[in-house]
Amino acid sequence: MKPAGNSPRSVTVLGATGSIGDSTMDLLRQARDRYQVEALTAHSNVEALARLAREFDVRFAAIADPDRFDDLKQALAGTGIACGAGESAVVEAAARPADWLMAAVSGAAGLKPALAAADRGATIALANKECLVCAGDLFMQRAMQGGACILPADSEHNALFQALGSGNRDELTRVIITASGGPFRTWSATDIEQATLEQALKHPNWSMGQKITIDSASMMNKGLEVIEAAYLFALDPDQIDVLVHPQSIVHGLVEFSDRSVVAQLGTPDMRIPIAHCLGWPDRIAGPSERLDLAKIGQLTFEAPDFERFPGLRLAFEALRTGRGATTVFNAANEIAVAAFIARKIRFGAIARLVEATLDQWARDGNLAPLDSADDAIAVDHGARKLAAALLPQIAAKAS
Ligand code: NAD
Ligand code: MG
Repeated sequence: MKPAGNSPRSVTVLGATGSIGDSTMDLLRQARDRYQVEALTAHSNVEALARLAREFDVRFAAIADPDRFDDLKQALAGTGIACGAGESAVVEAAARPADWLMAAVSGAAGLKPALAAADRGATIALANKECLVCAGDLFMQRAMQGGACILPADSEHNALFQALGSGNRDELTRVIITASGGPFRTWSATDIEQATLEQALKHPNWSMGQKITIDSASMMNKGLEVIEAAYLFALDPDQIDVLVHPQSIVHGLVEFSDRSVVAQLGTPDMRIPIAHCLGWPDRIAGPSERLDLAKIGQLTFEAPDFERFPGLRLAFEALRTGRGATTVFNAANEIAVAAFIARKIRFGAIARLVEATLDQWARDGNLAPLDSADDAIAVDHGARKLAAALLPQIAAKAS
């Protein structure tokens, strides 16, 4: 909902110090007088959070790491800005009455605060895909019950959202999300297996947080996005295709029954989909570079390779399995990525750990429909424990 007249729109940014948070704050900075920032949150970077809180004269700032509370209080002393710490403070930030909220915490930690915003009927720009992968149906249900409006901030889903407006829902036959293919697009399976952290962190087109950059290299990110698309737009797995497009200019395409395909294009700059969410249903002027197709010259496309990038296959399988499998997929991937960053496992072991966790979870008879967010959180915790327990044997095993 937009405020009447010219009063500033109140906004909250969860994960304000991250890559998406930074792009969001940049857009808010461009039109300072149009927005009142209600709350900002961060995990542990007190200095960056306090700087933003002061700059935007926010009402509330929350730091997720409880050990940093004293530092935050000190950094905001004399400003009159209220502050809190811990998971509950991040949820409190989300529950405060802002019209528009950016959900850009990374990982499943974003679920509870996003639910708090959904319950109070906020307009939510959703960047945190893990919360949909972890509890997709439940999250969408809670958003509907709470009267919330979910706007996809992820570039591919934002593209689909824009393209979907060209036809009716019953005329939709397929959606296609593109993938850059990441830094290992042309690498052999053997080289991918041995890839180092430094190599995985070199994304060819997008500048993003560490977790999603690794996920892009493994194509787990695209797997998460397939699941995200299924829940966001209520699609069957068969209606979702992935297309490798190394230039990252075409972000998403929608095919209708007459075989028309409508796509959204733009330079690879997250401020474009975020600006779309911030302005919606209107358009706002954005600071991003204009798309110059003549300069780019060529747009190329390839089919994805499910063998060299097994994460993509596992995502489709988990989506088809349902009953908590996507929650397990996400949890195991978070554990695997953290282990890879800590140099405990090889790059190739990320997908192996996810597959082993999914298999063991099913063998243990743990697949069951998720009836509540607490169920999803319990599955998330259980799957993390299982993945952590399987980690040593996966780490020890060569490919
Ligand atoms: P990032 O790591 O740069 O930032 C994450 C933010 O969340 C930071 O502010 C951090 O302090 C906060 N945070 C991390 N753990 C937290 C916790 N446990 N509790 C509370 N806050 C915590 O990540 P990012 O690249 O900005 O991505 C954020 C989300 O947006 C992810 O879900 C990602 O998949 C999604 N996304 C990112 C991009 C991108 O271009 N970066 C694109 C599409 C979607
Ligand atoms: Mg994306």
